[in-house]
Amino acid sequence: MTGLREAVVDLDAISANVRRIREITEGRRVIAVVKADGYGHGAVPVARAALRGGADMLGTADVDEALALRAGGIEAPILAWLHAPDQDFDAALAAGIALGVSSGRELERVAEAASRDGRPARVHVKLDTGLSRNGVPRSDWSDVVARVRTLVDAGRVTLDGVFTHLSNTSDEDDRIAVRVFDEGLDLVSESGLGPRMIHAAATAAAIAVPESRFDTIRLGIGMYGFSPVPGITGAELGLVPAMRLVSQVASVKRPEVGTGVSYGYRYRTSENSTLALVPIGYADGVPRQASGLGEVSIGGRRHRVAGRIAMDQFVVDVGDAPVDVGDEVVIFGDPATGAPSAAEWGEHAGTIDYDIVTRIGPRVPRRYTGAE
Ligand SMILES: *Cc1c(COP(=O)(O)O)cnc(C)c1O
Repeated sequence: MTGLREAVVDLDAISANVRRIREITEGRRVIAVVKADGYGHGAVPVARAALRGGADMLGTADVDEALALRAGGIEAPILAWLHAPDQDFDAALAAGIALGVSSGRELERVAEAASRDGRPARVHVKLDTGLSRNGVPRSDWSDVVARVRTLVDAGRVTLDGVFTHLSNTSDEDDRIAVRVFDEGLDLVSESGLGPRMIHAAATAAAIAVPESRFDTIRLGIGMYGFSPVPGITGAELGLVPAMRLVSQVASVKRPEVGTGVSYGYRYRTSENSTLALVPIGYADGVPRQASGLGEVSIGGRRHRVAGRIAMDQFVVDVGDAPVDVGDEVVIFGDPATGAPSAAEWGEHAGTIDYDIVTRIGPRVPRRYTGAE
C-alpha cells in the first residue's frame, strides 16, 4: 500500500459470499443489502459484485441511497424501505425504485406520487411482526391491505412484495414472528393479491431459521463475509471477509523504560519496548473503546495497541520484533490469514463487526481488488 491508510475490498469475495449464501438457502432469490455505503465497503462496487454473484435485487435503507446507486449507473431493481415523514417519492418513482411501505400514510403518499408519475408505483408492504420498528402494526393490517387492493385496482400501485424484519432474539422468537407474518400473508391472499416476492429473513435467519426464507432473503452482513449466527464463524459457513483495513508503520522508536504512551499515559514502556506508530485513528473508525485491547498484525505477528487510540493515530509496542518504518499494519482482515477480525475489534469495543466495518470513515480510501 501507499499512504496513511486504506480499506482494501475484495469484490470477488463479495460475489462468492452471495453464491455461498444462495447455496445455503437452496437458491432463494437474494436482495443484496448495500445500505450505509455498502456497510462501509462502497455501495456501487459492492452492488455490482453482488449482482455478478447472482443477487436479484438491491436493498437500501433510504431513497437517497437508492438514487446514488442509479447515479452510479446501476440499473438493477432496487428496494428502499425507510422514509422521512416528508419523503419526496417522485424522484424514486422516476428512477424506477420499489418502495417499502410501513403505514397507511406512506402508502397514500406513494400513491399520490404515482399519480403524478403516471405509472403505478412498485410497492413492498412491510408488516411489523414483533420487532416494533417500522412496518405496518398488526392492528392496521386489514385496513392497509384493503387500501392496497383498491390502489392496485385503480392502477396506482403494484404489490410487488410483502415483507417483515425479524429480531434475531432467538431462533424460537424468529419462528414465532414468522407465524405472525403467515397470518399477514393470509390476509393478503384473501384479498386476491399475489405479490411476487415474500421476504422475512436477513442473513441470520436465512442461515439458521429455514422457515423464514420464503422465496427471497435480504442479505447484508453475510455478503460482506461475516456470520451473525452465534457460535458459527464466517469461515465455518464458507464466507470470506471482503474488507482488509491496513496502514503502514509511520515511525519507530525505542524510548527509555517507563516512558508514557499516548494521551493519559495509560501505557508505559518496559526494557524491550519498541514503539511503532500507526497513522489511523478513531476518526477513521478504529474504535477508541478498544484502546489498550485491540490487536494488529505486522509481519504476520500480533501486537496490541499501547495506550489510547487517538483521532488520527495509535501506537503499538512491538517489543523486540523486527518492525520498520513502512511495514504494513493489518488492523483487521480475514482471520484465516492470521489477521485480527472485525468481530474481535467489535468485542474489544463493546460492539459488533457490523459496526466496525460500517464506521470506517471517509478519510480512508477504498481500493478494490477482484473483478471490476
Ligand atoms: C440491514 C437490513 C438487512 C440486512 O441485515 P443483515 O443482518 O446485515 O443481513 C435486511 N433487512 C432490513 C430491513 C435491514 O434493515
